[in-house]
Amino acid sequence: MWRLAKNILPTRGNLLRRRVPLDPVCPLCFNDLESTEHLFLHCPLIKQVWLASPLGVRPPPHSDLVLWLTQWLNCKESFAIQLFCTTLWKIWFFRNQTIFKNLDFDPIRVSCAAQKFVSEFSVSSTPREQSTGQQPRCDWVAPPPDFFKLNVDAGCGSMGQVSWGLVIRNHNAEVLFAATKKTEFVAEVVVAEALGLRWGLQIARDLNLSNIIFEMDASLVVDCFKDLLSLSSNDHFIVDCKELFSSLVNCSICVVSRSCNSAAHRLAQAAKTIGSRTWVGDASNPMEWPSFFIGLFP
Ligand SMILES: [Zn+2]
Repeated sequence: MWRLAKNILPTRGNLLRRRVPLDPVCPLCFNDLESTEHLFLHCPLIKQVWLASPLGVRPPPHSDLVLWLTQWLNCKESFAIQLFCTTLWKIWFFRNQTIFKNLDFDPIRVSCAAQKFVSEFSVSSTPREQSTGQQPRCDWVAPPPDFFKLNVDAGCGSMGQVSWGLVIRNHNAEVLFAATKKTEFVAEVVVAEALGLRWGLQIARDLNLSNIIFEMDASLVVDCFKDLLSLSSNDHFIVDCKELFSSLVNCSICVVSRSCNSAAHRLAQAAKTIGSRTWVGDASNPMEWPSFFIGLFP
């Protein structure tokens, strides 16, 4: 951040200013000189990084980078500051990977990497209460204000049975919607997880929600969704997922650890006995929610 604010990061524009002989064009879009402002504000690929971020950042039309940094650093929300700074850092990191390791620059991946890092950082820097052994270990982090998190998980039974669990929570970690689903068929785990993602996307669309961060622990499915991997068994469902995703506004899909996804996991396990059910509303009202929810969402 300090090097960025001082404009001494070795962008191609800055290297040219120091008379280093090189092509100063932006290595991401190849359309403009790679100045610091271009790289962090105006490059079309960087605008996509900001758009994919839960912060919903719109880079300012002006080019006063220091003013922009100062405005963000004065934000009241520590999560937002952490994510903002980490996103800048990840932009620089992945820009270097593009130049020195010849990797494609994927804006969504950059944004997700920043979110994942901040989530892990928040968990490790928050002192946790001594475990009582009663509660499931949960490292889940609530989304920023005005955003929702949708966690989904699948479970494959040995007897040709697939179950899913899904939960939507807001920035106060309040449960707004939860559902379980069970069907009888034999499926590979990656197919079950892809179907889980599709189910989550359908529910988000049906509830007319925007600003959603989808979280799941199936990294293979998320890799397929992001075209980093192709598996013939779930190709068809991934196509459906992409179509549904394109109909949603301001959403992202992230891989999280199993402990971050424990609520959805427990719902998927519960589905094996309770079958397909849906709960809508505020889970803090015990009248409307079944008793097995107690302790499910710490
Ligand atoms: Zn560019």
